[in-house]
Amino acid sequence: KKIIIAIDGYSGCGKSTTAKAVARALGYTYLDSGAMYRAVTLYFLQHFINPDVPKDVKRGLQSLDISFHNDNSNGIQQVYLNGINVEEEIRGMQVSSKVSEISKLGEVRKAMVEKQRKLGKKKGIVMDGRDIGTVVFPEAELKVFMTADTTIRAERRQKELLEKGEMLSLNEVKENLERRDAIDTKREVSPLLKASDAIEMDTSYLDFEEQVSTIIELAKE
Ligand code: C5P
Repeated sequence: KKIIIAIDGYSGCGKSTTAKAVARALGYTYLDSGAMYRAVTLYFLQHFINPDVPKDVKRGLQSLDISFHNDNSNGIQQVYLNGINVEEEIRGMQVSSKVSEISKLGEVRKAMVEKQRKLGKKKGIVMDGRDIGTVVFPEAELKVFMTADTTIRAERRQKELLEKGEMLSLNEVKENLERRDAIDTKREVSPLLKASDAIEMDTSYLDFEEQVSTIIELAKE
């Protein structure tokens, strides 16, 4: 029986790498909900939309279209904003430093959650984010909540950014992660929170393969 697997947790815990590997092993579809909030943020930046002006936010949301496409049929979806592949652009610091301010807006969340539920209609999905187990799919059969030591998370993220050509100090990366976590945890609408029935996983010292196989075993139960 195919199920829904929800993977939530703090920024930079390795949710997406883990979710991708789990999806590949199970033949499931992987959906990156964070990529959607990142794409909305990119659009707002490109169009100078002020998040404090509700009418502009509403109009912005109406004029953007987010979709996922599997370009190289390797099972990994790439995110498109109004028909353009923005996978690279949404991962940079410019978007990372604004995304939490945009994703705390009620209107933005409403639109994204609706879209995520539609995308999840077909069972056999792994979705990662902040509110998947609590709000988007409270009925998910398997929920994982990931945490990790902040310095370890920052080191991993710094390496990823460097691979993309963005050189940042460990402190800069750490500050971004901590600031996002603070905004994500404190926001009024669907804050980052461990679902009561989620399994907590501290990935600080976990071996990646082990992490993935643990989730796969749990999914088979
Ligand atoms: O997962 P990722 O780090 O790419 O998410 C970027 C940001 O998008 C998070 O810091 C959070 O503000 C927002 N987000 C959210 N709800 C989700 C997924 C992401 O609010 N389900």
